[in-house]
Amino acid sequence: MSVLIVGSTALDSIKTAKAANPRLLGGSASHAAVAASFFSPVKLVGVVGEDFPRRYLQLYKRHGIDLEGLQILPGKTFHWSGEYEANMNVRRTLLTELGVFETFTPTLPKAHQATPFVLLANIAPALQLHVLNQMERPQFVAADTMDLWLNIALTDLLKLLKRLDAFVLNDSEAHQLTKEDNMFAALRKIHSLGPKYVIIKKGSHGSILSGPRGMFLCPAYPLHRVVDPTGAGDSFVGAMMGWLAAAKGPVDAHIRLAMVYGSVVASFCCEGFGLQRTTKINRKHIEQRVAELKELSRF
Ligand code: AMP
Repeated sequence: MSVLIVGSTALDSIKTAKAANPRLLGGSASHAAVAASFFSPVKLVGVVGEDFPRRYLQLYKRHGIDLEGLQILPGKTFHWSGEYEANMNVRRTLLTELGVFETFTPTLPKAHQATPFVLLANIAPALQLHVLNQMERPQFVAADTMDLWLNIALTDLLKLLKRLDAFVLNDSEAHQLTKEDNMFAALRKIHSLGPKYVIIKKGSHGSILSGPRGMFLCPAYPLHRVVDPTGAGDSFVGAMMGWLAAAKGPVDAHIRLAMVYGSVVASFCCEGFGLQRTTKINRKHIEQRVAELKELSRF
């Protein structure tokens, strides 16, 4: 089955202690779509400006990503710039230029409205709601977010939470939303806001799922060198949704393994700038790391 993914489609300029890379292909939806494409057909919904390089459109196409829902409008592509401290854990946003995203309100093509799996990747919650409102009874809806929306669009985000199957956020966002330092207490509070499945991402420490069948502690793949973690969270949730859409039967039966695939694709994402590493791997590379993780976390 296919996955519809809406989110940011961006040009990212990323600085680390070792290098600076301007105008890479980025955005939450780009990372998530490439990650999901290893497992399922993907329909991308987003907007770019006329300055968006053709080679990036070709890259989406090489991954079989359906671009019917990607608008190309007069103006500039959303541009985000960030800088990492030497430890690669602390990131500062240097610049956010909304460009064509400022006025973006997508109308989904008819064929997109019946897509069974929907990923509302990080973008303004009002836009996530706008897309969800156009879907015809999707089978499974997941959303991701960021601290910015907790600060400036909490009312919309709370409206969205009531309509999700799964909500994915990182530990600092979970703390911000619930005021709980204890992540297990935070999980419980987030369930009370609506979602049946809550996943808290903890970067290199893995992620925690809470769902109808209880909890799951998902390991992160141990990396010895991180080049650029931008988009790791988006890759995680993208691969997870791609895997779930490909699996037959109830989500409950597959979500743990889906998260492990998410962890593995996210690990590849961290090994290169932007999407540079993720776009060079194939299913065999992914399966190898999944097998390693299985062995590493066996009791
Ligand atoms: P992550 O590393 O998972 O937090 O995701 C980083 C991605 O989020 C980058 O590719 C950015 O283009 C994108 N991004 C940054 N700020 C925003 C924003 N305000 N809205 C949507 N996407 C954003």
